[in-house]
Amino acid sequence: MTPDRLLMSNYGPPPIKFVSGQGTVLFDDNGKEYLDFLCGLAVTSLGHSHPRVAEALTVQAKTLLHVSNLFDTDPHIEVAKTLDELIRKETNIEIPGRIVFQNSGAEANEAAIKLARKHQGQGRHVILSALRSFHGRTLATLAATGQPEKHEPFKPLPEGFRHATWNDLDHFASLVDSSVGAILLEPIQGEGGVNPADPQFLKGIRKICDDHGILLIMDEIQAGLGRTGKWFGFQHAGIAPDIVTSAKALGNGVPIGAVWAIEEVASAFKPGDHGSTFGGQPLAASAAQAVLKTMIEIDAPLLATERGQELISMLEKVRGIESVRGSGLLLAAELDAEILSKWTAPEVARECLEAGLVVNGVTPTSLRLTPPLTVSTEELTKGVALLEKVLNSPKGKE
Ligand SMILES: *Cc1c(COP(=O)(O)O)cnc(C)c1O
Repeated sequence: MTPDRLLMSNYGPPPIKFVSGQGTVLFDDNGKEYLDFLCGLAVTSLGHSHPRVAEALTVQAKTLLHVSNLFDTDPHIEVAKTLDELIRKETNIEIPGRIVFQNSGAEANEAAIKLARKHQGQGRHVILSALRSFHGRTLATLAATGQPEKHEPFKPLPEGFRHATWNDLDHFASLVDSSVGAILLEPIQGEGGVNPADPQFLKGIRKICDDHGILLIMDEIQAGLGRTGKWFGFQHAGIAPDIVTSAKALGNGVPIGAVWAIEEVASAFKPGDHGSTFGGQPLAASAAQAVLKTMIEIDAPLLATERGQELISMLEKVRGIESVRGSGLLLAAELDAEILSKWTAPEVARECLEAGLVVNGVTPTSLRLTPPLTVSTEELTKGVALLEKVLNSPKGKE
């Protein structure tokens, strides 16, 4: 029997085919217009077809595409320097850290786990992370992901991973022993439902790490690069991590990931310990270079703070929304009981899509809103009006 699609079914059947995008707007193959309040899962933070990113890619494509990491090239060196400066902002880390580039978020976390293991030595290999976390889909990052139901079909997973309750310092402390080498956390759990870390919790985790010689790895793949209103989510808590992973928005749609570590930890990687054919290659790095330059020029964290506050106050007035959580433009709207008696959040998201608004049902009861950091107040008003119309339409489960 011939399947109706050549692609494997690991994602459900796609409801729509998009053909182009400009800023916050997407167009499908019928020419219909959509407001993109999802950004390909918090990736296109500068909006679609950003001219600076497009220009950087065009110039780089005509200059040098690839030589491998056996040789030096320019774009990734500048990206490394800028990333290091942004990560050390608002921390007391004075010595520059170092970076290794990868091609995705999961690969960045995978490399971070390897780096932590190499630095901590054998017998201190355990990674402690949070329940409901999301760290990627490779076997090790899946093992680090605190969602047991995602583990089941792929067992046995690599060993050395433990999970504690989110924001529960005592539970984390109770799982620490001499085998724990690193604690891996998101500053706001993204895929797990947009659940912010309590700043006191992150401060407490930092202290546990200091007291026991444990490395703190912050997974900034979704929250980082301005989205929460700071360059990196951990900066809200005033702590300094030992390792930071970044990806998603770093290339504004071009695949690239990065692992940053303080010098003392970074130096654990010796020639031959890790590698990637493409990691940090010139085309992806040229996109990242344009992204970071642009984000600094427009003060992306400030935009996220300002538009985020506007979006929160608009959403709080919408009938059908119980509460809003998150920070900057990494937000979730919890639907109220009346709506949930008719619809699940993914069903509401599906209706929104029909109405011309791209959002996602991040839990059965809440919608995730991650518009571009460049979104305008008018676009926010328009998007929220579309959402309100969907929530207050008579349609729904009979
Ligand atoms: C998306 C995500 C990842 C995985 O990134 P991929 O590029 O999909 O591999 C890891 N951690 C967090 C917090 C993410 O949001």
